[in-house]
This record gives sequence, C-alpha cells and structure tokens, in this order.
Amino acid sequence: MNPYTESVRAESRLEGNLILPDRVAYGSLTISGGRIASVDAASVPRPGAPYISPGFVDLHVHGGDGADYMDGTPDRIRIANRAHLRHGTTTVFPTTTTGSPEQVVRMVKACAEVHDRWSPEDGARIAGVHLYGPFFAEDKVGCHSVSGRRDPSPEEYDAVLANNIVRIATCAAELPGAEAFYRAASARGCLLTCGHSNASWAEMTRAFEAGVRHVDHFWCAMSSVSSLRARFGTPMQASMEQFVLATPEMSTEVIADGCHLSPELLEFAFRMKGAARLCLVTDSNRALDMPPGRYRFGPEEDGSWCVSDGCVGRADVGDALASSIVGLDTMVRTMRRDTSATLPEIIRMASLTPAERAGIAVSVGSLEPGKRADVLILTPDLTVQEIILAGLNTP
Ligand SMILES: [Zn+2]
Ligand SMILES: [Zn+2]
Repeated sequence: MNPYTESVRAESRLEGNLILPDRVAYGSLTISGGRIASVDAASVPRPGAPYISPGFVDLHVHGGDGADYMDGTPDRIRIANRAHLRHGTTTVFPTTTTGSPEQVVRMVKACAEVHDRWSPEDGARIAGVHLYGPFFAEDKVGCHSVSGRRDPSPEEYDAVLANNIVRIATCAAELPGAEAFYRAASARGCLLTCGHSNASWAEMTRAFEAGVRHVDHFWCAMSSVSSLRARFGTPMQASMEQFVLATPEMSTEVIADGCHLSPELLEFAFRMKGAARLCLVTDSNRALDMPPGRYRFGPEEDGSWCVSDGCVGRADVGDALASSIVGLDTMVRTMRRDTSATLPEIIRMASLTPAERAGIAVSVGSLEPGKRADVLILTPDLTVQEIILAGLNTP
C-alpha cells in the first residue's frame, strides 16, 4: 500500500481559521470521499490558530524543480506538478512557451496523459493546458525564443485544440488570424486571453467581440500608450492597459513575486480590478526550488536561456525579466505585505477567481460543501504547513 492510500482521510475534520471568499471565521470543515462535506464557520477568528485555505489554482505556470512543461514528457510534467504542490498549488494549467509545432503538440499530449492517469503522487492536478506560446507578436516575445513564435494557422491550432485538454488560449490580438483562432478556441470552451501583444484599443475591441476576457501578466510583454506611439505615431492611442482597466468584464493577472512589480503597482491593479477580476499567477519557470544559475526557458533542447539570481528569472543578456522562480505561496505573502487587500480577497485571487475565469469553480477554488477537498493548512504567517489533495494528506 502506498503512503497516500495509507493516509487517506476518508472521513476527517479540520479545525481552524477558515478562509472563505467573504470572511475569515473560526470553525471546522469535514471531508468525506475526497470532497468537502460540511463547513461550519460561525465563530470569530482566533488569533494564532492555523488558517484553513482552499488549494491554489495557477493559470499561468511553465515549470519548477528543474522541469519545464515544454520538456514534453509525463515524467518532467509530474516533477513540475509536485514542485508546485509543495507551494500550495493543487490545480495547475501547464503553460506552453514558443516552440516548434511538434514541441507544442508533444507538451499537450504529455499533459493529457498525466491528466488522464492522475493520482495524488503526481502532485498538483492538471485542469487543462494553457496554450500560451507560440502566437505572440514578434516585438513582444519577451524571454521566449523568437524563432518559435508564429501567427496562428488553423492547420496548427485545430490539431492542438482537438486534444480537448486546452482550457486557456492566448494569442496576440493584432496577429493575422487572431479572431479566427479566438472563435475556434471559444467553441472549445476556453478562456480566451491576449498576451505578448502590442495591441491597440481598437484591436482589443475586436478581440473582445471574438470572446477575449483576460490579459496575461499585466504590465509584462503588453502594449502601453508609449509602445503604441512607436507603432502608430500620433495622436497617442489607448493600449491593452486602458482597455483592461476600463472594461469590467476583463480580468488579468499579476506576478506578485516582489521582483516583477512594485508594491504600488500591485495595489493599483488590485484597486482597479478588484479581487474577482485579478488572478495571482506564478508564471514560474524551471528554476523554482533550484539553485541560482543558467536555465533553459521552454524546451530543454533549444529553449532560450535565462538566469535565476535566486529571486527572479532574467534574460541571459540585459536586465529583461524572464518569469518568476517562486510558488503561489510567495505571491500570497507578497500581496499581504504590499497591498491593502484583505486575506479573503488575497486567497480569492489565488483560488476562486482563477477557478471562475477558467470555468472550473464548480469543483475547486473555495471551501464549499461538494467541492473537491483540496485544502491547505497555513501558519499564521501564511507558510504552507499541510496539503490535503482530494481529501488525501500529501507527505
Ligand atoms: Zn509571458
Ligand atoms: Zn509565462
């Protein structure tokens, strides 16, 4: 019998400060058959008691513990999923980088295999793939390899979407064929997002009409008034930033590792969009839980090089940022330190909001009876102390 089976909490009860979407309350939660059976949260929070939180949901993540999802084998994918589970992420959307059509398909198929055969030993559970690269704007590829970017073509994306595992689909809105791509991904029920893009307000409006409701990592690899001035001259034009801030239906995400965005930008994003439209994501690369050094971003055979300085990833040359190297637990603590968001709001941004945006909130994202028992026990300073995955204790 494996250690997970032995530690099955077929019927169990947890007691502490429960973090609910709208409040923190002292009480208890029972688990039965892998699901939350009941939540009793009637008392005022008790200082010093452990927090009980829903497991985190990461919409945008590239890897960890030396593995990038684009390495493209089930073993490598499980290594990354186990690493993120240690940081409190119970549901992941493995995220493609730029790469060849074969590398993208290889990753998607390997994720489908891990998804179909999942057991708690495999770490965080894959809810779907985030098809992110390769449909980026050439001038906004960021740390991804330029040679692996291209415009969307139905020959390529129809085959990828046919695997039925892609749940989030990114494309730069200004690319030829972007609207057809959005409509194809929308027909599959994907959350549509615009990222690595120099799109104007007008291009975002067309993308919105085609179903786009989300923008990847706010302020990173996206258009600004000044980048559009360089593209179109004067009069200056509104960018993705203004479009997202002015459009209530649009959500976005921040990389709250303390290295990508300053405290006032995190506070600004939170105040402008609110907890129901802002997701915390790691965007973490394979350097998570690895020593500082030089790492491939994307496929291990030919991904671009980035450098982890122990705090953040940076491009091999220059000081451009190249994604984070920390888990969602760090993002949660950064938001608590740097913003005015309340604890229920912060946890919502790491669980219920991403679950809602990706269309999986019926089964995960909050401590509600009937949902999967993906539960974290956190210390008062929000360190992950215990992880219960689908009702099972993980070692
Ligand atoms: Zn990116
Ligand atoms: Zn990314």
